[in-house]
Amino acid sequence: MNLQDIARIRKEMEKELDAKRYEHTLGVAYTAACLAMCHGEDPVRAEVAGLLHDSAKCFDNEKRIRICKKNKLSITESESKNPFLLHAKVGAFLAEDKYGVKDPEIKDAILYHTTGRPRMGLLEKIIYIADYIEPCRKQSLKLPEIRKIAFVDLDQALLMILSEILHYLNTTSEPIDPMTQLTYDYYMKEQKKTT
Ligand code: FE
Ligand code: FE
Repeated sequence: MNLQDIARIRKEMEKELDAKRYEHTLGVAYTAACLAMCHGEDPVRAEVAGLLHDSAKCFDNEKRIRICKKNKLSITESESKNPFLLHAKVGAFLAEDKYGVKDPEIKDAILYHTTGRPRMGLLEKIIYIADYIEPCRKQSLKLPEIRKIAFVDLDQALLMILSEILHYLNTTSEPIDPMTQLTYDYYMKEQKKTT
């Protein structure tokens, strides 16, 4: 992946996404590049993963399910109840199939960007966090604090975001993907080990 790939993928996302989602995507891409610089990850990989993380977000559910079935991508129980979650799985698939990204860590960062998972890699954490803190976001009162901490301690930022998301999901009727809870529990335990 190099700078030409970034320019190419950026143009493709501009065509693929609606205006609001495209702005969000650019925000995630450069926030991820900055976090990468700060935490010792390659900023080009981070930018590519950020650009592609929501590439399937503007598809309708039918199209996402069709792509999964056609390419034998498994659909979990929570994904079939809430096919919007499939945008991560379909996005990870399209990263290679349509946009030529072979790097498995970029694909994993896209695959786990909605739920996280225990033992996330550096790039996975960066994309998960960048998705939540990019400049267009404004849903959480804790955002200013989380943004600051993201440039100091990724695991701490991750825990704060997971706890915000779980709290938010508990106050609505939106379903919680069990992986979000598993990820929170894992990083909570990790934090207790080190303190
Ligand atoms: Fe997303
Ligand atoms: Fe996103």
